[in-house]
Parts: sequence; C-alpha cells; structure tokens
Amino acid sequence: EILCMGSMNMDLVMVMDRLPEPGETVLTDNFSTYPGGKGGNQAVAAAISGARVQMFTKLGGDGFSEELIQMMKEKGVDTSRILRDPESTAGIAMIRVDKNGQNSISFTPGSNARLSPEDVEKNSDLFKRGRILLLTMEIAQETIFRAIKLAHENGMFTIVDPAPAPRNGFPDSIAPLINLIKPNESEARILTGIDVHDRESARIALQRLSSMGFNLPIITLGEKGVVGVDGNDFMDLKPFDVHCVDTTAAGDVFSGALAAALSKGMHLKESLEWANAAGALSTTISGAQTSIPAPKSVEKLLRR
Ligand code: ADP
Repeated sequence: EILCMGSMNMDLVMVMDRLPEPGETVLTDNFSTYPGGKGGNQAVAAAISGARVQMFTKLGGDGFSEELIQMMKEKGVDTSRILRDPESTAGIAMIRVDKNGQNSISFTPGSNARLSPEDVEKNSDLFKRGRILLLTMEIAQETIFRAIKLAHENGMFTIVDPAPAPRNGFPDSIAPLINLIKPNESEARILTGIDVHDRESARIALQRLSSMGFNLPIITLGEKGVVGVDGNDFMDLKPFDVHCVDTTAAGDVFSGALAAALSKGMHLKESLEWANAAGALSTTISGAQTSIPAPKSVEKLLRR
C-alpha cells in the first residue's frame, strides 16, 4: 500500500484571445476547473495504475476542497485521512491562457502550506512497515523531513519526487533516509549543480547524488528516457516512441506508476520500465489527471 503526501490544488483556467492589461477586463466564455497539485496527481496516477493508495494532506473549508476530495475518491484513492483547516482554502492556481498559448498564472498554496510536523506526529499510525511513502515537495520542508524520518524509523520505503527542488538541498542527515529519489533534469541540476541535459551529464549527476548520500537516484530525461544507479548497477532506459502532444504531469505519472509497480511487488527494473511507458503514454493526451494511462494501455506499449 502507498501513503501519498503532497499538495492538492484546483486549477482555474480561462482561455481568451489576449491576456488583460493591468486594470483591464477581457471577456471569454472558455472556463474550466481541473484538479491538480503534484501530490494529488501522483496519488491518482498510482491508484489508476492499480495500487491501494491513501492520501495524506491538508485541505481547506471551501467548496474547492470538497470537490477535490470527491474527485479523488472517485479515482479510488482513500481520502479518509485528509486533514481539513476550516480557516483556509485549497491550493488555487488562477491560469489565463491566450490563443497563442502564452499564460499568466497566480497561485496560492492555501492549506497545503499548513500541513505541519505535528500533523505528521498525530497521524503516525499511517506510517507503517511494508508501506511505500510517496512524497512531493509542494508542502512545508520541515513537514517533509519529519515524514521521512518517521517513515525510516518504521521501515517504510520512501520515494521522493523533489519537485520543486529545494534550493538549499536536503540536510546530510535526511538524504540517506530516502530510499529512492527521482528528480527530472532541472531538479537534478538544482540538487547537484551539474548542468544535466543529456545521458553523459546525467550520469555524472547520478554519481554526485550517490556521493551526497542518496540511495537510489533516478533521473527522468523527458523525451530522452530515464537513467538511474542502483549500487554499482547503471540503468539506462530508452524512451518509448509515442506521439507527444502535452508533457504536463509526465513526471507525476512516472512517479505514481513507479510507486504502484513497486507496491505490487514488481522488481526495480521492471517497475522503471512500467513507469517509463506510463510517462510516455501520458504525453499523448493533454492535461494532468486526464492523461493518466490505464494499465492495459501500458501493458500494450510494453509488448510492442
Ligand atoms: P517532468 O514532467 O517532471 O519534467 P520528464 O519530462 O522527465 O518529467 O518526463 C518523465 C518521464 O515521462 C520521462 O522520463 C519519460 O519516461 C516520459 N516521457 C516524457 N516525455 C516523453 C516523450 N516525449 N516521449 C516519451 N516518453 C516521455
């Protein structure tokens, strides 16, 4: 079973001819809301990939929070332990997009920022041996570090998707407690200071991550595939050849699918291949939670 910790947001999106100037109102009849946040995306991706998933986060007292819980429940995620802070709202992204695809975004983390180390402590029964902890970084750092320590004490397998990457890195005492860390190219760059842009530079960054104390670093390279290192074993996964239309949340789908495959008892290499295929398929459909592939499609791509 997977315990997923991270942000849940509602994206409010208006598409219009052009973005408004300060003080101006631009009309449009194109408005949609989408559930998002890396925590939410990854929990839903893991559930769709066939894992049992429990979400642990904090939402607000607003209608968006209600709606986010409802939608997550419908995807099969256990939402019974999501905390609520009646004083705040869900994370909200207000996104304007013009007809050329140019956007302007304002964002408030809302209740996501209020998930505290004490909340982790009070819900320590969620941190159980045999479970996988899947963590993203859009919540308070001290909360993340507390969760990693507790998970380690309880013998959980911790996967960290360091998005957004912490500018000041991870404390030396925390890095070795993480079982698997999965940055993308830009996150790997922030964590290591190495300009990661191809396999060769990624390989050097993997070595750096290992020497920083991280156990199992995996770097996703977008359309170039995935590389990782497990002890002395260098892993290199070629990308699947798909018709890519929108890469939004490819990394989230990869992480959710990887955690799901591991929780089902698949071996590491097999799990990475599964996640590589799921990530590739997610780019063939636009959106975040709308683009998570069904296990049948992943199996089909793997057999091709
Ligand atoms: P992020 O969304 O965090 O930037 P990446 O862009 O590295 O993450 O994508 C995550 C994974 O999704 C990749 O490692 C790969 O497995 C898959 N993927 C992403 N883009 C493509 C693509 N154009 N073709 C095939 N696979 C892709």
